[in-house]
Amino acid sequence: SACGGEGAGDTSGDDAENGGTAAPAGDGEDLTVGVAMPTQTSERWIADGNSVQEGLEEAGYTVDLQFAGDDIPTQSQQIDQMITNGADALIIAAIDGTALSSQLEAAAAADIPVIAYDRLIRDSENVDFYVTFDNYNVGVQQATSLLVGLGVLDEEGNETDEAGPFSIELFAGSLDDNNAHFFWQGAMDTLQPYLDSGVLEVPSGQMDIEQAATLRWQQETAQKRMEDLLTSSYGGGSEELHGVLSPYDGLSRGIITALQNAGYGTTVADGLPVVSGQDAEIASVKLIADDVQFATIFKDTRLLAEQAIVSVEAYLQGEEPEANDTETYDNGVKVVPSYLLESEIVYADNIQTALVDSGYWTEAEVESGV
Ligand code: BGC
Repeated sequence: SACGGEGAGDTSGDDAENGGTAAPAGDGEDLTVGVAMPTQTSERWIADGNSVQEGLEEAGYTVDLQFAGDDIPTQSQQIDQMITNGADALIIAAIDGTALSSQLEAAAAADIPVIAYDRLIRDSENVDFYVTFDNYNVGVQQATSLLVGLGVLDEEGNETDEAGPFSIELFAGSLDDNNAHFFWQGAMDTLQPYLDSGVLEVPSGQMDIEQAATLRWQQETAQKRMEDLLTSSYGGGSEELHGVLSPYDGLSRGIITALQNAGYGTTVADGLPVVSGQDAEIASVKLIADDVQFATIFKDTRLLAEQAIVSVEAYLQGEEPEANDTETYDNGVKVVPSYLLESEIVYADNIQTALVDSGYWTEAEVESGV
């Protein structure tokens, strides 16, 4: 599929379509939901957008779905426009979690419920609900997969007697994305004991999130930083590097390109450092199957889309959606009631069970990488 979103965008709604039942009751008649997604450069957001749109349309709602090309003013304008056009509810995956306050004030003034999608919207009273994954645990899983790749932990998460020392480098996401901080915190809490005991070392010394950050999660930015790190701290590639913490598959592929170009080998078996990831993007799933990228974190965007739809329907029927977390996500003004989903580490040996058997990707997609 062109965008890779086909498999990932399949919702359970197919049953309703083919089941021969009457058209949906029409709860959503004449109601419009604005759906603001950050970008189409990462396939997960395309899949998210498609899943949310399909599910809402099946329930009878009109959907205004917009992607903002990772440009903050564009996203602000799109949301302004949704409100002007009379949206009855908003589902927003923010580019910059702090940049939407005036849009949200307008939404509140017009009594439009706002659901933050995947990424928390910060510094605003006017965020009604948050659907996301357990983002701290995503970070724990990323670091865990790195430790498994290094042999410090076995796949059950038990410590081995591997004492290192292993050289690693650390990458973080975009600092304006609240999730980036949760991923980092989860990962660093997991790595810290091994840094303290000397099992792990970070030769560059770049261990603050500000140093490790990657603006807008851009692949080229990560590749460039990896190249710079190899130049400054690894003799251009002549010194040992064993692993890289990467919080997103796009970054992982940039990092891997830099490592391969510097001569670290083409697969993990022949010396390529262990690199983590996130999102189970199809290009990375193929790299994992081919022993190039070591692991990724699978977050089933179909389930997240479903949760967003359930939440929006609750509001539109005059009810409150059900939260399963009311403590974690303080947006600077209030704790936003949240619904958190679980994620899963994917290694080469569970691609089949986690991704193919669940219908997220087909076997053919995993084989071709597109
Ligand atoms: C999402 C990740 C994604 C990243 C880059 C984060 O907010 O939670 O799934 O990898 O943005 O798009």
